[in-house]
Amino acid sequence: MVINMAAGASEAELQHVIDRVKECGFQPHVTRGSERAIVAAVGSGGSRAALEALKAAPGVEDVVPIAHPFKLVSRQIRGERTRVDVGGVVIGGEAAVVIAGPCSVESREQILATARAVKAAGASLLRGGAYKPRTSPYDFQGLGLEALKLLREAREETGLPVVTEVMSTQDIELIGEYADMLQVGARNMQNYDLLRQLAKCGKAVLLKRGPSATVKEWLLAAEYLLAGGNGNVVLCERGIKTFETETRNTLDLAAVALARELSHLPVIADPSHGTGRRDLIAPASRAALAIGADGLIIEVHPCPERALSDGAQSLNPEEFARLMQGLTAPLRALAAPLEMRIPVASERLNRRSVYSV
Ligand code: PEP
Ligand code: MN
Repeated sequence: MVINMAAGASEAELQHVIDRVKECGFQPHVTRGSERAIVAAVGSGGSRAALEALKAAPGVEDVVPIAHPFKLVSRQIRGERTRVDVGGVVIGGEAAVVIAGPCSVESREQILATARAVKAAGASLLRGGAYKPRTSPYDFQGLGLEALKLLREAREETGLPVVTEVMSTQDIELIGEYADMLQVGARNMQNYDLLRQLAKCGKAVLLKRGPSATVKEWLLAAEYLLAGGNGNVVLCERGIKTFETETRNTLDLAAVALARELSHLPVIADPSHGTGRRDLIAPASRAALAIGADGLIIEVHPCPERALSDGAQSLNPEEFARLMQGLTAPLRALAAPLEMRIPVASERLNRRSVYSV
């Protein structure tokens, strides 16, 4: 349930609601907007009737059910979109953010050359895998700690904050020392142990959508992070499994728009894994921004034909620079009026709770 406090409700009235939510057997999560606060009561087993009775409490404007199984992730509990700060770069703000870099960190020369090139072309964050989830155990598995040190060196030289994947709970602490944002790869989207630990790591998390996960399952995976105390979460659509074989995955652009309608979290798109084809990265990037993506994550390699992973979908630095020149601001502006014009049905029903903060 969402308890919308009235504009001008006092701190004492808010505290009373928080205390009552706990007494009713739920956990209170408070969001303070510029004018008023919202208290989300989450959990199971408590008394919903007792919560509804809070309508009569002083300072309470309304008590409404949360329409979806994901609660803290739901757009209903925040009037504003969440902005995630990654080393000073804001994801989810006015400007779309581009994360770029190689699939895997392979050598000092490779990561430094790529970092310099993507920075010069206008990328805001550097990506690079140190611990790689490979389909075959015989394929390159990543340089591990050595790669983390190289990513740190690249950040020190270019100033680009670093995003890298974490596959195992036992690596979280170490990777957290080197990276600004931790990526949960598609294969681990439903690794609930990993999500629970990442909820406590104090770092921003990039949560990729599983190749066979529904949007609801993806948002419920994000709910683990928020419920565990980490609100700095960015969602990433990276393509799903379909019957198509000409592309590696099917980039689900509708899911980008849908996730932004259902959730207040920023949503970015990964046209590299989403298509698996270098020739489709530019059109897919333009389409993702036009549909409202808050940013892109793109694989770039100094020499894609020699890449140890994902060469077929990696751009070389010149191709990336050309792509960046084509990604103009008006593309993303296309999406905004659409979002304002067509609120989804559940939002229309709960318009007050969505827009009243
Ligand atoms: C990657 O980013 O290199 C990667 C392995 O992505 P995904 O988990 O989406 O396959
Ligand atoms: Mn990759």
